[in-house]
Amino acid sequence: NFVTPPNFIKAIIEEDLKSGKYGGRVHTRFPPEPNGYLHIGHAKSICLNFGLAAEYGGLCNLRFDDTNPSKEEVEYVESIQEDVRWLGFDWGDRLYYASDYFERLYEHAVRLIEKGKAYVDSLSSEEIRRYRGTLTEPGRESPYRNRSVEENLDLFERMRAGEFPDGAHVLRAKIDMASPNLNLRDPVMYRIKHEDHHRTGSRWCVYPMYDYAHCVSDSIEGITHSICTLEFEDHRPLYDWFLDELEIHHPQQIEFARLNLTRTVMSKRKLLRLVQEGFVNGWDDPRMPTLRGLRRRGYTPEAIRNFCEKIGVAKRDSIVDVALLEHCLREDLNKRAPRAMAVLRPLKVTLVDYPEGRVEALDAVNNPEDASMGTRKVPFSRELFIERDDFREDPPGKFYRLAPGREVRLRYGYYITCVDVVKDGTTGEVKEILCTHDPETRGGWSSDGRKVKGTIHWVSAPHAVEAVVRLYDHLFLKENPADVAEGEDFVNYINPRSMEVLKGCRVEPSLADPGPGVTYQFERLGYFCADLMDSRPGAPVFNRAVSLRDTWAK
Ligand code: ATP
Ligand code: MG
Ligand code: MG
Repeated sequence: NFVTPPNFIKAIIEEDLKSGKYGGRVHTRFPPEPNGYLHIGHAKSICLNFGLAAEYGGLCNLRFDDTNPSKEEVEYVESIQEDVRWLGFDWGDRLYYASDYFERLYEHAVRLIEKGKAYVDSLSSEEIRRYRGTLTEPGRESPYRNRSVEENLDLFERMRAGEFPDGAHVLRAKIDMASPNLNLRDPVMYRIKHEDHHRTGSRWCVYPMYDYAHCVSDSIEGITHSICTLEFEDHRPLYDWFLDELEIHHPQQIEFARLNLTRTVMSKRKLLRLVQEGFVNGWDDPRMPTLRGLRRRGYTPEAIRNFCEKIGVAKRDSIVDVALLEHCLREDLNKRAPRAMAVLRPLKVTLVDYPEGRVEALDAVNNPEDASMGTRKVPFSRELFIERDDFREDPPGKFYRLAPGREVRLRYGYYITCVDVVKDGTTGEVKEILCTHDPETRGGWSSDGRKVKGTIHWVSAPHAVEAVVRLYDHLFLKENPADVAEGEDFVNYINPRSMEVLKGCRVEPSLADPGPGVTYQFERLGYFCADLMDSRPGAPVFNRAVSLRDTWAK
């Protein structure tokens, strides 16, 4: 069982446990609206809600906040469950739908009408908005505000029965039109919507609003601590008002700052635009901050959970450097990703003094961080590929890799020396490098102690497998693309080079058929995940999850 560092939410829970406020129980919930895919921001909320429940021996529900009918919801309901499970959390048999409470929500609304605390208003939505006033100007009461209880009950029943078209009436809570908190100026509880719902079909044509449905759903489920993001702070008086008036179980709403990440947008509306306008290839594009995108990129649930733990929870909005997320991924993959050799931009090397047809099997370490991962054999032969970047005809100072007359170490292989360069007759491009090798340096070291500064990776040309490798970079060039000036469009800050597709890469033969989703460290290059969708046996496709260089400033 893990223990997270102290934070203000834990302080509240511990206080409640001490005072016995909820009989020593901790019961949280994660309440997604099934109108989109989960993203890294949701992960923060999932880790928090499930994490706190686990830490205090409590329970956490998964509740679909599906009070707003919409057509595509079934697909989202399924993907959300998959993603929560993938992150490593289990709601057991506590899967709920707010729509299952429609009948009870309706009954509670009737009770509020009977108490004189709710009324049917027949103003248009535009009028209601105007009557509500502003921060500096008090609201005005609707002419329908003082309808009798009998009339309200009758109208509300007929609203439910489908007698009225959309927009004809709403049910409002009768609170205070002069309240300095606009949320308390007789908020709408129900509106008419002649629309089918993914679970209740055509049974209902009145649907409850979020603020009413959410607190009552929390109450029905016996939630103790209802954790939500800061925007709901000034909805809390309304949360409390409904539950106090209804005199039912009253959870404590607690607000925390939502996650914002640099070079990332997180609002569903913006993510939808990226997909619909083709800036990315779908919701699971490896550049998307969705859990599906991150998984396809090569993120592990452990890395994401560690990230969520490291960022902690605060009461003030801030923006987290995406470098921290990348740091968490490296930290995790460094421990578990097997090493392999891959050449992204191949340059042919022929060892002129190595016998033709000879093949050696050299020993390579699978993970220097974990001896239990063992070693593997890597074929070595007269013809190799090295990285084009690892050779320079005119090496600048401090270039310790291959150059004419220079000696370099092949990882797990031999020391080789460049003796000649073959160029294309017309373009002058280097086509091939001719080298000799020192047979005494097998395995990559020399007993005479001579110094070879550079070590490069390689693959054996006749054994290597051709692969496609996609290099990803941040999707936005701007530090905070969610913060654009008025009239400016966030898509203007999209990085035009966020994806580079390299074809004709060569990988060592052990990578011919990587399991989908398996991530390797390509030595010297970074971490690469076999694509979940496009990789095929014999024709692997890899996504760069993250480079090796850590830019996270501790
Ligand atoms: P959007 O505003 O993009 O539609 P949402 O907050 O309405 O997102 P929900 O599906 O309602 O999305 O979110 C489910 C839960 O996840 C809520 O409790 C919400 O507070 C939390 N959540 C959503 N985004 C973030 C975020 N960026 N950081 C932390 N928690 C978040
Ligand atoms: Mg939403
Ligand atoms: Mg929401």
